[in-house]
Amino acid sequence: MIAFLKGLLRINRKKQKETKKDRIMVDLETLGTGPGCIILSIGAISFDPETNSTGRHFYMVINTESCLAYGLAVNPETLHWWEQQNHEAQEVLRQANDYKTSVSIKFALNEFNKFISQHRDPEVWGNGADFDNTILAYAMTKCDLVPNWKFWNNRCFRTLKNMFPSVKMNRIGTYHNSLDDAETQAQHANILLKKLSGVEA
Ligand SMILES: [Mg+2]
Repeated sequence: MIAFLKGLLRINRKKQKETKKDRIMVDLETLGTGPGCIILSIGAISFDPETNSTGRHFYMVINTESCLAYGLAVNPETLHWWEQQNHEAQEVLRQANDYKTSVSIKFALNEFNKFISQHRDPEVWGNGADFDNTILAYAMTKCDLVPNWKFWNNRCFRTLKNMFPSVKMNRIGTYHNSLDDAETQAQHANILLKKLSGVEA
């Protein structure tokens, strides 16, 4: 009987291993707040609450003219918001206006899809149920691309964060640099998902 149960446990563990999904935190800097807006940069990093670690990362600054050419637009209110941010955060605006420091939107989205495909059936975490993921997916359709992740793997970091308002986020790097923001959120998500699994246990 014990041998039988041990066998079942082994099968269960194997199944868990086979079905384990990777997790990727994404952060966009944009010139708008909804689908159809210009994307200034994409930052992303994989994370794993089991090992409390972050892994491979992705960062690209996207040329603004290339976004306009694909029919993406500027939201004047967001542009005004950017004018109020500090010099360090605004650096991405300057880079996005220069072809020497930015790449075309289609190239960036293609590369992002390649980054996604390096992961096992990944969950893609954005900051808001209708922000990063939907803006990315919409920009892909404009560039005749298809997201390399399943829509049912979309996850919302903002929802998770608001479940634990007393846990403070430890910010790293430059606020509104998309890679620094993605890493900050990934490290916070590691802590919160660990907490959540404790609550559920
Ligand atoms: Mg950000």
